[in-house]
Amino acid sequence: MQFTTWAPDPSHSFEVSQMNFLDWPVEQAILSERAQKRRRAIAVRLIERFASTYGAVEYDLFWESSIINAQAWRLGSRRRVTVYGGVVRHPAITASGIALLLAHETGHHLGGPPFDPDLRWPSWQGQADFWAASTGMPQVFGRQAARLTFRGAKQIAALHAEFSETDGVADISAEERSEIFLLGARGKCTPAFLQKSFNRMLEERDRPDE
Ligand SMILES: [Zn+2]
Repeated sequence: MQFTTWAPDPSHSFEVSQMNFLDWPVEQAILSERAQKRRRAIAVRLIERFASTYGAVEYDLFWESSIINAQAWRLGSRRRVTVYGGVVRHPAITASGIALLLAHETGHHLGGPPFDPDLRWPSWQGQADFWAASTGMPQVFGRQAARLTFRGAKQIAALHAEFSETDGVADISAEERSEIFLLGARGKCTPAFLQKSFNRMLEERDRPDE
């Protein structure tokens, strides 16, 4: 699915470089007014927690958007994370899922190498997951982190399953992501395990299209 990338003002010549969480699917189910209000409040509260933990990253919620996605992006030297309303309102997602997603997007900015081979600045998808589970979640949620990560990982896996058709360009499988989240939260994800997924992604990427 194609979507015109939302950016503050295209007339400015800033270079916007972004990392998408999913491939821009759009929401189908619409929640009741009351449920929407509640979810919006949850997302805002979580975003405030991340923003107060990570001063170098700017977070915002694009509530009106029906896009089921979130992204880490850069505008000049500014590091930004945008969460779209569609993912916050998705039936499979609760506070744990939104929390893990925020941690993952933050991980693209702060997770370090290996980096995405195309965009170059963001931590690679698997590294962002690893950083989210092992560093981001504990920094923001302390002792609650592992419990929230386990629950959030299930929800993210459910999203992957739903969007497997539009997710054809994914450079990491839902299973690998779940494993990284779970091992990362338990402090058991080794660099060798991550490197294996990263190398496999590089190999698949270099394979010519059939
Ligand atoms: Zn990502």
